[in-house]
Order: sequence, then structure tokens, then C-alpha cells
Amino acid sequence: MAAAQSFDVIVAGAGIAGASLALELAHGGLDVALIDPQPFAAQVAPTFDGRASAIAYSSFRAWDVVGVGEALRPNAQRIEQILVTDGRSAGAASGPPSPAFLRFDAAEIADRSDGEPLGYMLENRHIRAALAAAVTASPIALMAPARVESVAFEAADARVRLADGAELTAPLVVGAEGRGSVVRREAGIGVVGWDYPQKGVVATVRLERPHQGVAYEHFLPAGPFAILPLTDQRASLVWTERIAAADALAAAAPEAFRSLLQRRFGDFVGRVEVEGPTFVYPLALQLAEALTAPRAALVGDAAHGIHPIAGQGLNLGLKDAAALAEVVVDARRRGEDLGAETVLARYAAWRRFDNVALAAATDAFNRLFSNDHPALRLVRDAGMALVNRIGPARRFFMQEAGGAVGDLPRLLRGEAL
Ligand SMILES: Cc1cc2nc3c(=O)[nH]c(=O)nc-3n(C[C@H](O)[C@H](O)[C@H](O)COP(=O)(O)OP(=O)(O)OC[C@H]3O[C@@H](n4cnc5c(N)ncnc54)[C@H](O)[C@@H]3O)c2cc1C
Repeated sequence: MAAAQSFDVIVAGAGIAGASLALELAHGGLDVALIDPQPFAAQVAPTFDGRASAIAYSSFRAWDVVGVGEALRPNAQRIEQILVTDGRSAGAASGPPSPAFLRFDAAEIADRSDGEPLGYMLENRHIRAALAAAVTASPIALMAPARVESVAFEAADARVRLADGAELTAPLVVGAEGRGSVVRREAGIGVVGWDYPQKGVVATVRLERPHQGVAYEHFLPAGPFAILPLTDQRASLVWTERIAAADALAAAAPEAFRSLLQRRFGDFVGRVEVEGPTFVYPLALQLAEALTAPRAALVGDAAHGIHPIAGQGLNLGLKDAAALAEVVVDARRRGEDLGAETVLARYAAWRRFDNVALAAATDAFNRLFSNDHPALRLVRDAGMALVNRIGPARRFFMQEAGGAVGDLPRLLRGEAL
């Protein structure tokens, strides 16, 4: 049998979190292997991932540092305003009269954010294409299609076995393979969580009238209905519904789906036309019981899958990547063992609170808003009205959404490693 190839870090999973991490580690001078059963060509196909992501401006800075920002910019729609409303019925997404609303405006924090928007909306297929081009042009050893099948954690290094029998070794293996992480399983890290009685229906629509960079999140009893602005007068729609209703929506004939959508939107953006396929995503909360084990670290959905109510799941994964890259690159400069528990403990301490806090907050938000209980409606509407009236509270939420608070990794401040 051929000798095992060795690397500084093996990253399992070349999704958006894993590919970003691999680029960041390579930017820091490390020798990286990146493994995925899905070749990049499959990941950018229009039928692979219909989602668009709200990317915090701090996450975008990290992509700028590793050289993918330029390719993404033409496809990035600035989010200038976020309008959150609480409603009861279809068509109410057309705006007033709504009992309560919250308005976040990028101009209000322009002095602190250097004029950056609240975030950027980017279609996942464009993010995947830009990352794929950068990885392909880098010295990263890309292995795709290839699947991590098992990992043996040994005293001096970790030994990864691929489905075709090939073996790789490195002092550190990172699980970035999403919710079904093999590295997590092999490291003996358990998960906690539950399924939501909801699914997310995702579609891209063309709008007759301009959206002017406004993102709408409208809370309806079955779950949030979000209209997120995209470039070229289009929007990404995330329609959260109870499971049976979501399945029925996805199975509806195109014209029936369009007219249901039009009723939900109301007429404030004019006629809406659906472009491309409709996607349905099951929703669940899943938190790994630990972020690290000896010679193993988890990033992205492998570590935490959260409700998309706040559009923060991927941002958490990108923050994980930026923090882990900084910890590992600094450890190399100090001559430390990259997979040592003392090194990985720095990463876990840095990311644990943020991940758990956001998972809990999105779960609580979903429970608070996805119902029509009169007392809860009263509480949440009062809360929204209060935040809306208090400038500092509003500005806090905006900076939080922009990801520019707390102890930020250097990459998220736009600095090289
Ligand atoms: C409806 C919806 C809307 C969302 N909207 C937003 C948003 O607006 N903003 C936001 O920040 N987040 C959003 N999210 C969350 C976001 O989409 C996820 O958090 C993100 O896609 C996770 O990326 P990842 O790279 O961690 O994992 P994944 O995308 O799951 O990637 C995992 C990769 O690992 C590979 N893999 C699997 N098994 C193996 C193996 N054995 N060996 C090697 N590789 C393997 C897979 O092929 C895949 O490429 C949304 C989620 C949903 C469901």
C-alpha cells in the first residue's frame, strides 16, 4: 500500500465553511488537504443549492483578505435596510398596517462601520464558484470526489482514511462536513438538538419594482417569511411553513405557487416571477457537545445547525473558520503542535459562547414569533416597539448583525494572518 500523504491540516468538507477555512490556512502558509465527495462542478450547478445568504460585512472582509472578495463583489447586493414586521395573514408582507415593526438602517451606523452596509446578500452558487476558483488556483491539495470514511486519532497525528482506501495524516483534522460530520462522530463528540415542525421553502424571484436594498422579515404564525434583496432586481425568498404546508407548496404547479407567493408579497414590489427551481430544507437545531477533541476541531454546521430565522448560520461558520485559522497559524509560528489540546482549547474558548448563544437566541425567537398566541403577540410587539424607539438598542442589533462586535479574529477585521 502507498505511504500516507501528510499535511499540516486536513479539512473534511469543501462546503462554504470548509473551503473558506482551507483558503485562510493556506494564506497563513500551511499545507492543507481539502476533501469532499461533491466536486466543485456539481456544487455550482443551479439545482444544487438554491439558497442565498445574508453575509455580515465582517465575514466579507475575511474573503477580501484571502482574495475572493473581488470575484464576489459584482454579485453582492448591499442590504441598506431591514424591515421586520409582525403579522397575522397572507398579503401582510405588503407592509402597513402592521401592529408592530422594526426598522434597521445602515446609514445609522455609517460612522462606526465605515459606510459598510448591514450585510450583503449573495447567492450560495456564486459564493461556491468564487471559492472553487480560489481553491483551484491555490496550493491546497483538493481531493474531490473523495469521502472521509474514518479517522484514527493517534498520539502524534490523526490518520484519515478515504472511501477509496487512501490514507492521509496530519496533526489536526477539521470536520467541516455539515450536520452529518464523520470527524465529529470519529472524535466521539455527541450532539444535542431537535427538529423544528417547520421547513424552509426557498425560491428566487424577479420583482417588477426595485427593492432598494431593503430586506423584509415578516413574522407569520407558521414561521418567518423573508424577502431578501438580490442583484438585478431579484429577491431570495425564505418561506418557513409547517411541514405539510411546505411540502404542498413545493409540489404546487408553478402558476399556483406564483399566485400564492404574490398573495404573500402583496403588491408593493409589483408582479413577482419565480426564476429557477424551488427548494425545500428541513429545519433542525443541532449543537455539538464540544468544538474540539484531541487532534480534531469542528467548524460550520458540523458544530452547530441553527434555525435560519436570523440568517446567521453560515456567518457563525465563517467566524469559526476565521478564529480557527488564526489560532492554528499563530500556533505554527510559536512552534506548537497544531493539534495539541492546549492549542485547540483557545479555539473552543473563543467560539463556544457565540455559537451556543446564537443557537439559543434563534430557537427562542422562533418559539416567540411562530405562533398566534395573543399574550405572546403582545409581549413581542411591545418589545419590537421598544427596540425601535431606542436608538442605541437598534444600533446594537445592527452591529451584532454586521458581526463587528466582540473579540473579532484578525481576518474579520480585514487584517492578514
Ligand atoms: C433555508 C435556509 C436559509 C439559510 N439562510 C442563511 C442566511 O441567510 N445566512 C446565513 O449565514 N446562513 C443561512 N443558512 C445556514 C447556512 O446555509 C448553513 O449554515 C451553511 O450552508 C453551512 O455550511 P457548511 O459549509 O458548514 O456545511 P455544508 O454546506 O453542509 O457543507 C458540508 C460539505 O461537506 C461535505 N461532506 C459530507 N460528508 C463528507 C465526508 N464524509 N467527507 C468529506 N466531505 C463531506 C458535503 O458534500 C458538503 O460539501 C440558511 C439555511 C437554510 C436551511
